[in-house]
Amino acid sequence: MMNETMLPWHQVNWSLFNQYLRQDRVPQALLIKGIKGLGKQQLACDFANSLLCSHRLPTGHACKQCSRCKLFKAQTHPDFMTLSPKEDGKIIGVDAIRELIFKLELKPQFETYRVVLINPADKLNKAAANAFLKCLEEPNERTCVILLTEISSKLPATILSRCQKIIVLKPDRAMAKIWLQTQNITEHHDLLLNLAQGAPLLARDYAHAAILPLRQQCFTEWLKIANFQANPIEIAEKWYKQQHEIIILWLIVWVVDLIKCCYQTQAINLYNPDLQISLQELAGRLNLRQVYHFYDSLLQSRRKLDTQINKQLMLEEILIKWLQLNQGS
Ligand SMILES: [Zn+2]
Repeated sequence: MMNETMLPWHQVNWSLFNQYLRQDRVPQALLIKGIKGLGKQQLACDFANSLLCSHRLPTGHACKQCSRCKLFKAQTHPDFMTLSPKEDGKIIGVDAIRELIFKLELKPQFETYRVVLINPADKLNKAAANAFLKCLEEPNERTCVILLTEISSKLPATILSRCQKIIVLKPDRAMAKIWLQTQNITEHHDLLLNLAQGAPLLARDYAHAAILPLRQQCFTEWLKIANFQANPIEIAEKWYKQQHEIIILWLIVWVVDLIKCCYQTQAINLYNPDLQISLQELAGRLNLRQVYHFYDSLLQSRRKLDTQINKQLMLEEILIKWLQLNQGS
């Protein structure tokens, strides 16, 4: 959860945090926003650690030596509270917020700050968000609430308006590649970063999960359907058992590139430059209007990824449409 060194693209956010600390003007509520894979949680924990440390460094960082830093590292600091869904993708309910409010009414253990981390804040359901507003409207002395989100538009305006917003931006390509190198990832930097929308931690996770061979396998199967050499139902079943959510995102960028190929774009402008030859070949024989239509249906599917919809059925529908597109019907 915590690295000893700060991620280089957090420097700009950290300067602001350090300013808060030096001026003793730490906001009651911070909303840290940014795409997946930029280390928002690490940034939030670094700042929380620093708020709780009793011997903070001049850079604003925690000393990592004092007894409170040790408690923090062991995840047993009594004045640091985190709220997350019990399971990935689930919501944070009102009971968790009531429990938090109860704890905040008690006295803090130490005289520094109390920090509450809510991650991801967009998983607060409506009742929880309403109850949470109470914390923001009647703030407790020296309590800092840090909310994390990838999509701030999912949060109620009443909460947004009470938070100081911190945006974590992705680093430029050169910085991201240097960082990947420091993680002992030696090849496919550009491709991994393209797939991760430029987010270095996600690119690293992809490298560790050997995501590139899976992508190649799926792409080959997708082409087989286009060439009537594979059954879409069987492929849907296979993909469903693999990482189907990411596969749907890949399909979208393959089709974006396919559309670009219809306009004779150069490889450098593609998300998947390594797949250009095959995509170009598809672009040569498909009806562009129908490809756009397919793209729209993929975007609709992506919007449903967050719901309880049957994902295997969703994949079947997508791949049958893909087959029909190739049949020219
Ligand atoms: Zn310390």
